[in-house]
This record gives sequence, C-alpha cells and structure tokens, in this order.
Amino acid sequence: MRAFSKGIGNLKALVGHHQEGPLAIQAPIVSSYNERIRPLLDCVDRLRNLKLMQEGIQLPTIVVVGDQSSGKSSVLESLAGISLPRGQGICTRVPLIMRLQSHPSSEPELSLEFSGRVVPTDEDHIAEAISVATDEIAGKRKGISNVPLTLTVKKNGVPDLTMVDLPGITRVPVHGQPEDIYEQISAIIMEYIKPEESIILNVLSATVDFSTCESIRMSQKVDKTGERTLAVVTKADITPEGLLEKVTADDVNIGLGYVCVRNRIGQESYEEARAEEAMLFEIHPLLSKINKSMVGIPVLAQKLVQIQATIISKCLPEIVSKITDKLTASVEELNKLPQHIKSVPEAVAAFMCIISSAKESLRKIFIRGEFDEYPGETEMHSTARLAEMLSSYSDELQFISIKVEQKQKFLEEEISILEEAKGISLPNFLQRTAFLTSLQKMVNAISATPAKFVKQFWEYLQGVFVPVLMKHSENYPQLQSSIRRAAQNLVSKKREQSIDWVLQIIEMEKLTDYTCNPEYTATWHKLMESQDTFMDIINDRWKTTTLEINGIGEVEVGHLRKHLVVAEQAFDLKMRMIAYWKIVLRRLVDSMALHLLFSIQKLVNKDMETEMVNELIGHHGGGLERMLEESPSIADKRYRLNRSIKLLRESKEIVAEIMDNIAAYAD
Ligand code: GDP
Ligand code: MG
Repeated sequence: MRAFSKGIGNLKALVGHHQEGPLAIQAPIVSSYNERIRPLLDCVDRLRNLKLMQEGIQLPTIVVVGDQSSGKSSVLESLAGISLPRGQGICTRVPLIMRLQSHPSSEPELSLEFSGRVVPTDEDHIAEAISVATDEIAGKRKGISNVPLTLTVKKNGVPDLTMVDLPGITRVPVHGQPEDIYEQISAIIMEYIKPEESIILNVLSATVDFSTCESIRMSQKVDKTGERTLAVVTKADITPEGLLEKVTADDVNIGLGYVCVRNRIGQESYEEARAEEAMLFEIHPLLSKINKSMVGIPVLAQKLVQIQATIISKCLPEIVSKITDKLTASVEELNKLPQHIKSVPEAVAAFMCIISSAKESLRKIFIRGEFDEYPGETEMHSTARLAEMLSSYSDELQFISIKVEQKQKFLEEEISILEEAKGISLPNFLQRTAFLTSLQKMVNAISATPAKFVKQFWEYLQGVFVPVLMKHSENYPQLQSSIRRAAQNLVSKKREQSIDWVLQIIEMEKLTDYTCNPEYTATWHKLMESQDTFMDIINDRWKTTTLEINGIGEVEVGHLRKHLVVAEQAFDLKMRMIAYWKIVLRRLVDSMALHLLFSIQKLVNKDMETEMVNELIGHHGGGLERMLEESPSIADKRYRLNRSIKLLRESKEIVAEIMDNIAAYAD
C-alpha cells in the first residue's frame, strides 16, 4: 500500500515531464512517446483485457465515434499504418479495440482477440480476419453487437495508443439491417462515451455541415462543454472550401481542438498517403492556411498520445481506490452469504451453533435483562415487559374484586350466606363453611383472569422468541421454516402447561383457606376495631347510618338494622374475608411470576433444544438434509461474487505492480 500511494504521487510528475518536451514526429510515425508512460497504458490494457469494466470500473479510453462513412476506420488505419475493412455500408459492426504498440523489429506483428481466443494474423489478412470475427460475434447478416474484438498491432514507429472504433451512426437501415439499427448503435455508442473516463474522438467529414452530424449530437449529450471531445476532420482533400472557417469558428464546441487529415485513397500505400497529405496541407491554396498544429495524421497521433497520458494519470489513482473498495464490498457480501454446507456432520455443527447462539441471546433478553442486541426495540426488552404485564395483571385482579363487592349493599352477601349456613349449633359461632362459600364466590369472580393472562403472556413470548431464532438462523434460509415451526409448537405446548397450572391454582384457592402470613391476623384485628361502633349504630335507630371503617372507608349500614341477629357475625365474616382476600390476590400474582420465570428458564435452557433437535433430526424432520441443499439463486450469487473477487484481485496485483515501478523510477 505504501508503494501504491507513493506511485500515485509520482504519476503527475512523470506525465508532466513527458508533456514538456516537444514530440519529434518522423515518418511514418516514430513515436517518441515517453517510455515511462507505456507501462501505464499496458496496465490499463491489461485491466481492459481482464474485463474490469464488467465490475463497473471504467477505464480511460479513447472512443472513436462518427457518422457512417465519415472515415473512422480510415483514421484508425492511418494511425496504425494498416488496412482495415473500409468502404460504403456498415463495415464496423462490433466495437473494435485497437491497441497500437511500437516495437523495435521491422516486422509488424498483428493479432486479433475475440471470444477468449487469440488469432495471429498479418497486414494482408487483417481485413478479412476482422470480417470473419465480426460475423462470428454479430452474425453473418448486418446485425451489430456490443461484444468487442481486440486488435493488437505491434509495428515499428506506431504511436502507443489504445482506441475503440465503434459502428457508425446511421439513421436509415440499409437492406438486411434490423429496423431498430439506429437505437442499437446509439445504445452501444452511449455505453462507451458516457463514462467521464472516455475521451471522445469525433470523426467528422469535411464534406458535411458539422452541426448536422449525429455524432456531434450524441457527444454533446454526454459532454456538453466538449472538454473531453477531440475532432478529426477527414476528406479535407474533397471539400477544402470553407474548412479553415469551420475549424476556427468551432460552432459545435470541441474542447480539445480539431485536426484535419487526408486519409489513404484507393490502393495507395501508407507512405504515399502520408506524403500526399503533407503535400496537400503544404501547397493547397486554402488548406495551407490552416495552422500546422491542426493538420495531418502525425499531429493527430501526437495529440492523442498526450491526451491519453493525461487521462490515464488522472484516472489511475481513482481506479486503484475503486478496485480496493469494490473488492472489500464483494468479499463482505460473499461472507454474508449463507454458508454452503457439504456434509451432515457439518450441518449438525452449524445447527448446534445456531441453537447455542440463540440461547445466549434469549438468556440475555428473557433472564438477565441485557438488551444490547436490540437497543431500540422495546418489544424485545422482555424482563421489563414481563414486569409491566404482571403489574397490570395484579391491577386487573384488584379491579374485578372491587367491582364484585360494589355489586351489593354492605354485608348483604355475608348475611345471605350465614342464613344458609345456620344449623344446630351455638349462636354467634362462625361456621367455616360460611367462610368457604364466601371465598368461592370471590375466587369464581376472578377465575378467568389468570388463564387469560397466561395466554396473553405466551403470545407475547412467541413474538420475541421466533424473531430471535430467525435472526440466528438467517444464514440458513433453508432451515428457517423448520425452526419457526418447532418454536411455535414449543410455545403452544408451554401455553397449555401454563393454563393447566393456573386452573389447578384456582381450584386450590377455592378448596382451602390457609395462610401462614401474620398480616392476615393483623389486618383482621384492625378491621374488627370498628365492630363495636358498627353494633352501636345498628342498635340505636337515632344514630347516623354511616360508619367509617379503618382501611375500607365509609359504608352505609342502615339497612342492617333489620338483621340484628346475624349482623355481628356477618361483620366478622366480611372482615376476615377482606383480610384473607388481600393475601389470596398477592399469592396469585407472586406464584404467577415464579411460574412464568421458571417456564421461561426451562424453555431456554432445555426444551428449546429438545424440540429443535426433534424437528430437524427426528423422524418427521429431514431438516438436516435440507441444510445441504442450496438455493440456485444463492449458488449463482456465490459463483458471481467469487468470479468478481478473482478478477478484482488480479486487477489489484496489476495496478500494484505498476505503482511499485513508478515508485522505483522516482527513487
Ligand atoms: P467509416 O464508416 O466511418 O469507418 O468510414 P470509412 O473509413 O470506411 O470511410 C468511408 C469512405 O470514405 C471510404 O471509401 C474511404 O476511402 C473514404 N475516405 C475516408 N477518409 C478519406 C479522406 O480523407 N479522403 C478521401 N478522399 N476519402 C476518404
Ligand atoms: Mg468503419
């Protein structure tokens, strides 16, 4: 990484140095291209070859666009010093990536690469080889395709340049062409010229009005100011009139300037063509007026080489960081994909891992009250929610009890119970059956509440339990339905158990009146302190009919004067009941809390595991086998990510190498 950043720092100096010195241009084209820039271009070409663009990382590219027959292929031919398929009609039907490399030998070396194959060829056969390859990619008819061919030309004296030739823009389909040829070609051209990293080499024929060119219209769409557009004006020999005015007026906003050229005509040799061109711009009365920095293929070559060096040095550091970012993101995404499980033992291990990690989360939220895994989701803060639920359960029990008491006048209920409990026994002797009858009436009134409460509680618990399990098994979507089913089964079993338990508790409370709690006696004594006043009131008709009882409040007692015989006993019975009922309600809430906490602990520590194992490994499960299956979409995603990662790693190595070299140069 150190070498990387050092390399980037040196890049500017390198290119700057190159730009200062004037380029010597010799015939045919001896590039005096700074040898140090060449490795940068090689690096970009290697990245292009790797198809790094498929990863959405754009590479600096010189893209050749132009209307049909404007002379694109001729310009490339002139730059490369070779013959390309040229002429009327649509010749370039697929993008042609042309890599020109100067090499010392006088023997040119040409090769054509497409569909993963490299075909060696030579100058005499290149036109034919391109036609054959085009037919193979885009079909024998006149169809087009965006799959590129790569032509590498190693020739002594060519400029080190990589350019992409694109199909020419045509409005009207010729015979045999698809109806939407214009849309197809536009789409390909847009794909290539849209990225900021592309330099647009707009080929314009001197024979037309530039402002009517489709290629100008298109390049202006993506490069309004023309800052990355260079114009090459061909066929200067055909229409020399007005050319000087056209290129100096610059009506079409060409930011990088114009170069007027004259390409090879007919069977001329390359050298002849260059000599004709030089002569034309030297002696033609109109063309000779155009500034020499704007004419001729050698000037074009020099400009392109400079532009290319600038754009590469500008883009390379960004490419480095894009590769790194993309690689990190892809590796992260791959790691997030569900694990691919290959054997049953591996599946068992993964399954146990889900169980134990889920168990730990559940202990935190159900038992220890630690909510760090769900900080914002208060529904998941179970210990707190359970405490709230219990408190409202207690309130509800109290509320129902008060309502029952308020239904009748003071002591009316007790009197009727005592009337029915009378027997052959001493007067004033409080019968236990009377107390039990009264107790049962109270218990009956609240008997539905505990069962309702446990149902509500388990429903809440399921709403926490299932999401926690789902979260811990999210890497194994193939397992989640089994896990969810097991969890729901388990919770409903637990709910049934709780309901059975509360029904028993209610029965027990009805059957026996017992407490060892001394508070019972204390409360009763306190309440009984009002008994004498009570008796005085009902014995004395002239007294007020209301009584203030300590701990209950004011009650109306006037109606009891007609029950003088049982009133005293009824009062006693009532006060015992009040004292005892407090104990009963508290006992119901306390035991409910203990029961629920105990059930949760058992669920988390033991039952959950048993149930899951049963569901997955037991006879009706088959879930473990299911873990071995991988959904095609995930397998596909894994495949694509692995491929991207491989490509990005290779790219990174290529870039690292070049950055190291630059750093070494500078040292
Ligand atoms: P493309 O369709 O844009 O690739 O155009 P071509 O390169 O195939 O050229 C179309 C025609 O224009 C061919 O017949 C070329 O010979 C001719 N042509 C291209 N450039 C020049 C030039 O500078 N002068 C003359 N006279 N003809 C040219
Ligand atoms: Mg062409």
